[in-house]
Amino acid sequence: SILQHTTFYTSVNRLHDLPSHAGIEVAFAGRSNAGKSSAINTLTNRGRLAFVSKSPGRTQLINFFQLGDDRFLVDLPGYGYAKVPFAIRRHWQDLLSTYLQTRKTLFGLVLIMDVRHPLKPLDIQMLDWFAPTGKSVHILLTKADKLSRQQANNTLREVRAYLLNSYPQCSVQLFSSLSAKGIDETMIVLNNWFGI
Ligand code: GDP
Repeated sequence: SILQHTTFYTSVNRLHDLPSHAGIEVAFAGRSNAGKSSAINTLTNRGRLAFVSKSPGRTQLINFFQLGDDRFLVDLPGYGYAKVPFAIRRHWQDLLSTYLQTRKTLFGLVLIMDVRHPLKPLDIQMLDWFAPTGKSVHILLTKADKLSRQQANNTLREVRAYLLNSYPQCSVQLFSSLSAKGIDETMIVLNNWFGI
């Protein structure tokens, strides 16, 4: 898979530093601690490409990873960490909302949620910023290993039912970085988005 040849490209903190290229981007977003770094590392087969977060919410960077010439995986800053000062939250809002609403090269959004706490207000906020673009969203309900199969499937059904009404361009699946559950399903979506 092309994701196994992912290399670090650049980090940016301000919108006007975003790289200008004609490639395809797929962005990953999620609440702090939801398991985004672990998911990226699992999918790219790297131990620590996206460093597993040490101080949640502190680093407000957009990290770009390159997969081949013109395809990029974009690691968006985690959100929802309670102790972040107002000014940083504000910066996060501007960065994320503008990126999601205006980024031409952005093809789709992978939204990471802890299967035990899905669809929190800031997750909905992300969907509300991005859905008007009409682009694809794929939700990973991660840490599925923390629930019984039945509990996990119940949550999957509930989330799917909720999305059907409000966000029809949004798909969802169970995932676990620990057990590798759901990787094949995610890879099909990513390969499709990247045009592979
Ligand atoms: P991020 O802040 O969203 O990047 O989250 P991390 O990837 O740093 O993960 C937060 C915590 O959840 C860490 O302690 C991870 O080891 C743990 N974690 C992440 N994914 C999984 C998973 O699929 N299963 C389990 N059991 N723990 C996970």
